[in-house]
Amino acid sequence: MAKLYFRYGAMGSSKTANAIMVRYNYMERGQTALMLKPHMESRDGVKQVRSRSGLTAPCEYIEDIDSIDVTQYNCLIVDEAQFLTREQVEKLVKIVDEKDVPVICYGLRADFKGELFPGSLYLMAWADAIEEVKTVCWCGRKATFNARIQDGKVVRTGEQIVLGGNESYVSLCRKHWAQGLLGGRGIRRIESGFDQYRDMLSSAQPDAGQLARDLERGEMFLLSEGGDSLAEAVAVREKEDLIRLASLATREAYRMTGCARSLIGHIRALYPKMRITATAPEHLAAFFEKVGFVYDRQVNECPNCADPASNSMLCFACLPAEDEA
Ligand SMILES: [Zn+2]
Repeated sequence: MAKLYFRYGAMGSSKTANAIMVRYNYMERGQTALMLKPHMESRDGVKQVRSRSGLTAPCEYIEDIDSIDVTQYNCLIVDEAQFLTREQVEKLVKIVDEKDVPVICYGLRADFKGELFPGSLYLMAWADAIEEVKTVCWCGRKATFNARIQDGKVVRTGEQIVLGGNESYVSLCRKHWAQGLLGGRGIRRIESGFDQYRDMLSSAQPDAGQLARDLERGEMFLLSEGGDSLAEAVAVREKEDLIRLASLATREAYRMTGCARSLIGHIRALYPKMRITATAPEHLAAFFEKVGFVYDRQVNECPNCADPASNSMLCFACLPAEDEA
């Protein structure tokens, strides 16, 4: 008998990566799995799911489920299942019970206020199997809350869903969510609410259009302490084995204190097999050499802004961390 699964976790618990791996495992066995997500979650209108770590898979929208012959699949996988409506969960239950197709849903349990999302509520109530995908708070305890961060502070009031809003999220344990404590110095990935970091970002990349493209294609990492943002980096994967450091900026008061070095170290640790390139003016050469880059070549056109006038820009490269003795 097929089952309905709900696998829930806080943000950053690799739910989407898990979903993509499950789909891959089906394909590897010569079977088919259909990936689905709610349309409202698709800000870009692309039928694709994408994990934080950069894995992608094609998908369909759950809103179109009635026009899909689900019996041709061995399994349905639903990402961002917290956004499902009651009716959509009911449809999934029927697919499991009447068509005998297993459905695996991945989603958040609760919103930034600690309230269940509608999709999670009905999945909690009706799923055959409920499994937790774990992640940790900065303190090491299990993170069960998705704290909404606005201007460096944990906020606990507001709308449940703000698309294109000016806030970001971080997973915290219940205690630190309640206390609003964001911990000591640490690096986390920022996936939304880029506007709150706009000043710092634009100091490294003044071309707003290019910055928007880099944020869309790449990953932004923030080094913060308590609620204060100290430094940021944007890394764009240009090829299978090549990352372009598109932006790197430290708040003035924190320059020369190792912030940028920590961010580069973080990116290298995440992608030990990648070569990292950075383009910077000549006066930053000493800095890049100190953090493990070597001078590669002079570039006549800045790849970040395509400005042909910036002919004093130098390109630096950092070899894969794995190649180091
Ligand atoms: Zn904690």
